[in-house]
Amino acid sequence: MLAARAYAGPYPAWPAPTAEACRAVAERLAAVHGWPHLKRQQGLPAVGCEERRTVLDSLVRTLLSQNTTDKTSGRAFATLKQRFPSWEAVRQAPLEDVADAIRVGGLAEIKAGRIQHILGTLKAERGECSLEHLRGLSATEVKAELGRFKGVGAKTISCVLLFGLGQDDFAVDTHVWEISKALGWAPLNASRDQAYSHLNELVPDDLKYDLHVLLVNHGKKCPACAKTGSAKHRSAIENGAAASCPIAEFKPPPSTLKPYPSSKPRGGKNSGKKAAAAADGSKGARKAAAAGSSEGEQAPRGGGKRQKVAAAADEGAVAAAAQTDN
Ligand SMILES: [Zn+2]
Repeated sequence: MLAARAYAGPYPAWPAPTAEACRAVAERLAAVHGWPHLKRQQGLPAVGCEERRTVLDSLVRTLLSQNTTDKTSGRAFATLKQRFPSWEAVRQAPLEDVADAIRVGGLAEIKAGRIQHILGTLKAERGECSLEHLRGLSATEVKAELGRFKGVGAKTISCVLLFGLGQDDFAVDTHVWEISKALGWAPLNASRDQAYSHLNELVPDDLKYDLHVLLVNHGKKCPACAKTGSAKHRSAIENGAAASCPIAEFKPPPSTLKPYPSSKPRGGKNSGKKAAAAADGSKGARKAAAAGSSEGEQAPRGGGKRQKVAAAADEGAVAAAAQTDN
């Protein structure tokens, strides 16, 4: 039932989600929120890191969305585009002027410096501030090209692939990450980037755009799909709001959610063996089960925090732990 090509993600012994599960969840959410690809065909906006005129627009827009809300980063991007007639003008401007234009989105000096570094590199290498050459490249080539820039991590690149380049890539932001763990689609100990590497393998290509947009938009609105252990999530459970979530029936009982049995995903010859042993109910499985049940509700909370810091560090976001990470 897996994709025709061989699985190359970090969790070979974690078969969820199946293509059928992806489709069922997408259909259920689309019944509530509408199909994103239909909105896209009508030219309506999807989410924050949405399609823009140029690939460079898409990259800068996504960079600005790090560690803030879509609304504020949208304002920051609009102000930047208003104040400067071109990316070349942004490149030549004093750092302070660029930072001022995007100040509303936070971390203004850091983001301005990164944007100018990218623009300077492109100018030096290609003679112009443009990323249109990425349109002809494979996802792997795009990842290599963009991944060399500081502050451009897996999530940002995935958003550029999905929205800027129209490729079938399953971007995993905080909302997608949290809901995926709650659905049992990713192990509890998966970092955001590990969840991305896993889900990008298993989510069918024709659902990647829709499912990403649906999970992001749903995650923003539904308290039951807020981060497990967060105040919002706890009150949703207490108020019985969890039952009104349209995908509640797809979520297994929280006590059955587990971390990946190997501490080193795909770390060597033993990782597959350990995972298989765990599935058989051997020592590894009992250990994993014990770890899950003894910590109960606490497990996702503590793990989530560590993963959040790790994910933020990967994107190179300074002081990210204290800020909204999306
Ligand atoms: Zn929900």
